[in-house]
Amino acid sequence: MSINLNEPAVELRESRLRTLTGYEGDAAHLLSKNDFPNRERSFTQCGSCSADQVMNLFTQIQDAAVVEHGPAGCAADIPYRNATFRLGNRRMGYPVHNVKYINTNLDEKDTIYGGGAKLEKAIREAKRRFSPKAIFVTTTCASAIIGDDVPGICDELEEELGIPVVATLCEGFRTNIWATGFDSSNHSILRKIVKPARQKQPDLINVISFQHRFLFESVFKQLGLRPNHIVPLSTIEHISEAAATVQYCESLGSYLAAGLEQHFGVPEVKAPAPFGIKASDEMLREIGRMFHKEAEVEKVITSEKEKIAKDLERLRSKLTGKRAFIAAGGPLAYNIIALVKDLGMDVAGTCIWHHDQKFDNDDERLNFLKFDLKHYGNFHIGVCNKQAFEVANAINKHKPDIAISRHITTVWAAKLGIPSIFAGNEPTEMLYDGLIRFGQTIDDAISNPAYIKNVAKHSKLPYTDWWLEQNTYSFLRGEKNV
Ligand code: SF4
Repeated sequence: MSINLNEPAVELRESRLRTLTGYEGDAAHLLSKNDFPNRERSFTQCGSCSADQVMNLFTQIQDAAVVEHGPAGCAADIPYRNATFRLGNRRMGYPVHNVKYINTNLDEKDTIYGGGAKLEKAIREAKRRFSPKAIFVTTTCASAIIGDDVPGICDELEEELGIPVVATLCEGFRTNIWATGFDSSNHSILRKIVKPARQKQPDLINVISFQHRFLFESVFKQLGLRPNHIVPLSTIEHISEAAATVQYCESLGSYLAAGLEQHFGVPEVKAPAPFGIKASDEMLREIGRMFHKEAEVEKVITSEKEKIAKDLERLRSKLTGKRAFIAAGGPLAYNIIALVKDLGMDVAGTCIWHHDQKFDNDDERLNFLKFDLKHYGNFHIGVCNKQAFEVANAINKHKPDIAISRHITTVWAAKLGIPSIFAGNEPTEMLYDGLIRFGQTIDDAISNPAYIKNVAKHSKLPYTDWWLEQNTYSFLRGEKNV
């Protein structure tokens, strides 16, 4: 897909990537074409706001400020974003400080008379209070409905303040897919912040990730390469000077990686994210080809595999045949399947938050689902749009040995007495040693079930037996996927 930076708003995932939030069938069928119609639900329990994902990225940039133009309720996620930012800074060894964020606190009067004056005041205050290198101004449902001219106000103040003041059109009702929020932020960064490289740095690789203290560092060092961790928890300097971009999550980084390649000449590493042994091999070999370091890469692969061999054997002897239920976003869930299969485990079932049928850099080597099918075989997929009632139903049906989940916490499995682990923002499961860390976490959870059993004994699910006996996806409308 070509990335169009002329438009102020990003093209939505619904049309750009033909993203699905409702599907039930097997992986091979899902891959048989890329234009399945989305199956809507006749009942929806909860959802995520894409503007929240915009905050997830913008508030975590070290030298930028954010002005959210909306009611205070849209700021409900900010304490969490602040805690994540402070923790991330501590982990990365940066000075610990708060997010640089202002909400315009739109009220009823503003929805009648307009909130433009409040927005101007907030942008000037952000400049005075934080002295940022850029200010991102984001929209919400309220400011979009009343029709405040956010891009116009930003353009005027950009001239006055002498720094980029970037309108990001990301109100929650704009899209049904929360991950579009990542694209909205990256669209603004590509449009207004990234500048063409003055000088290329041939040993520098952009790494798109959430929290990434030691991702890639060890293997990159062995290859004489330097990681440039970008967005979030970073500045965005040098981003176009890198020789390549690598990412660990298509949901997060697909748009930015494609935009850097198409508009700034920074190629994306076209390989599956390095989850599991086979994907790690493939990604490192692709990096070897791009940087003409094929022989060095083979040495790294051999030595990394030697380092984990004993632990892998030990974990496989304990975990072979155990069944894992996986609930996560499209790419990460498919990544986790590679991990559990490498540990000798079986996939009991899945709840996938959403599934992208296309990729921004239209290259099949980035398609982890296809990679799973080729190397690990077919499996059943349910796309659940983070519906907790479907997740609880599915875990109860499959009764796995372990539930592995992201975003929706492990609470549903715990209440059912099933050991569960949280696949968090720091992708510590990556590469060869990551497989061991992940396997050990699974083994610890399965081997110590007493706490979870006690939780279940004293818990009551909010769902009736009637619901738990229904087909997990019985509220999906439209033609059945076979
Ligand atoms: S932007 Fe809209 S959907 Fe998101 S928190 Fe605000 S009101 Fe809710």
